[in-house]
Amino acid sequence: MLSRLRQLTQSHGALRTGTGLVSGVIALGCGLTCVLLVLTLHFPQYLTTPELRQALNLALLRPLLLGGMVVGGGIALANLLLGRAPWLSAAAFACVVLSALMGGYKVQPPELSGRTPYIGLDWFVLDLLGSTLVFVFIEKLFPLRPKQPVFRPEWQTDLAHFFVNHLLVGFVLLATNFFVHRFFSWAVSVEVQQAVQSLPFVLELCVLMLVADVIQYAVHRAMHELPFLWRFHAVHHSIKTLDWLAGSRLHVGEVLLMRTLVLAPIYVLGFSREVMDAYIVIIGFQAVLNHANVDLRLGWLRYLVVTPNFHHWHHSQDKEALDRNYAGQFAFIDYLMGTAVKSTKTWPSEYGVLGDYVPLGFWRQLLFPFQRRARSQKSDGHSPSGC
Ligand SMILES: [Zn+2]
Ligand SMILES: [Zn+2]
Repeated sequence: MLSRLRQLTQSHGALRTGTGLVSGVIALGCGLTCVLLVLTLHFPQYLTTPELRQALNLALLRPLLLGGMVVGGGIALANLLLGRAPWLSAAAFACVVLSALMGGYKVQPPELSGRTPYIGLDWFVLDLLGSTLVFVFIEKLFPLRPKQPVFRPEWQTDLAHFFVNHLLVGFVLLATNFFVHRFFSWAVSVEVQQAVQSLPFVLELCVLMLVADVIQYAVHRAMHELPFLWRFHAVHHSIKTLDWLAGSRLHVGEVLLMRTLVLAPIYVLGFSREVMDAYIVIIGFQAVLNHANVDLRLGWLRYLVVTPNFHHWHHSQDKEALDRNYAGQFAFIDYLMGTAVKSTKTWPSEYGVLGDYVPLGFWRQLLFPFQRRARSQKSDGHSPSGC
């Protein structure tokens, strides 16, 4: 059973229908989600983010957990009885039994006191669940490449990035806060902050998004033009198949640098909490959508806001697209700066780094910027900008 499971997780491509594979994978997904959720109920102080801890209602979580156990267990049992992919169904059923043995939906979380170091396991589970449901649906509805399967090549590497970047959410938040307060406190002005907070909600949100995107444009461009920074950013550009999960391939060094420099002016200008929350939701959705396998160009609006088409070109290997389309939210910044892609083709044909020198796998990519071969790639004169 274990070798078949290993084989499945190491492979890619469309799952054969009518064999119990599709339903088995859904059952296994339910089973694994249940195990992780039960663990977060047992150890919320270490496995949950304080923000979600407050927002998550047990009355909501328990039915979700029970539903996952019933659906996952039901599908697995039916497949076992029908003899469809029994090795997969047995693994899924074992996960459901394990979550039931650990207390299932009835687990009573302990009372929490004080702050402890934590990893965002709850954030990982909920974001993976929500993103899979929403974005796979959108990708199936408006597919750019209809034949591209959900389990496309290198999905394992990107899922590992997704996993680690979510678990490290607390550490990244702490480090970013530290750098922002340590290096940018001198610029804070109470008068300016009061003026910003007195703006109407929509205007304040627009100002925040514009300030953040101008900074992200500059930092992103520096990552392409400075060889030291490119080594970190090359990891993101090494993706050869774009979909909703692909944008998760980010080196933690890049995440720290980008977040610190983008959050610095936001902190200095003192935007209100509600505006910040709206910004985080919008940017989170747009960042995932821009990488998704969707045929979305938005007509004339594409000159104003960043669309999947605009960002797909940023990942292109086509010569005319190298070092172009840096903006994350407002495409007009690139048009104003003369860095927008001007192509007669509608979509790029190939993605990735020229020369394809970034290794595959999470750990190899984590170490890549510090290796000699990353430095030599730059001295070859290959545009740091490889893309
Ligand atoms: Zn880039
Ligand atoms: Zn990207």
